[in-house]
Amino acid sequence: MTAAPKGPGRPTALRALLAAAAFVLLLAGAAGLARVLQFAYATPTVSEYLEHLGGAGTVVPAGELTYDGHNFRCGRFPTVLNAKLNDYGAAYFGFVLLNPDRFATMSPMVKRYAYAHECGHQYVGYDEGEADCYAIRRGRREGWLDRAALEEICGFISRSKGDAVHAFGVRRCEMMKLCFARSRPGREPL
Ligand SMILES: [Zn+2]
Repeated sequence: MTAAPKGPGRPTALRALLAAAAFVLLLAGAAGLARVLQFAYATPTVSEYLEHLGGAGTVVPAGELTYDGHNFRCGRFPTVLNAKLNDYGAAYFGFVLLNPDRFATMSPMVKRYAYAHECGHQYVGYDEGEADCYAIRRGRREGWLDRAALEEICGFISRSKGDAVHAFGVRRCEMMKLCFARSRPGREPL
């Protein structure tokens, strides 16, 4: 570029401050969505976690969680309900974590995806993309996830518009669509 700026440039200090502010906003935005359904980097046992909550948590044994008439299963892993959890759901190695109030606000399909995602962390580890893909494969295999359902889930994931969070959600959705295309539908239950 050789063209001179039309007006006086912003003072360097102000420009640096604006750049810093934009960076912080970007980080905050990304963290906002990244926190949704993110794996927690710690490994307490169920009883240690309950102790930490000081009696505010409830354990639902493996296979006994039900929402919208559907059973939510994650192998041998129980679910801990924590009304103070700052997200819809999360996972520690050994159990799935839900905020029952927030979880209840999601549509039945998004609930199934979200739970399968958190469950996926038990099998795939920390990787968010892998946990998403696990949820997609599982939904296809169990027969509750079709293309329309995937769009509904993508709508939830990508609901923030016009910022870094939106781009993050859109990218995540694209990866989920790839997983969908590569997965095989299970047999319809007879
Ligand atoms: Zn996650």
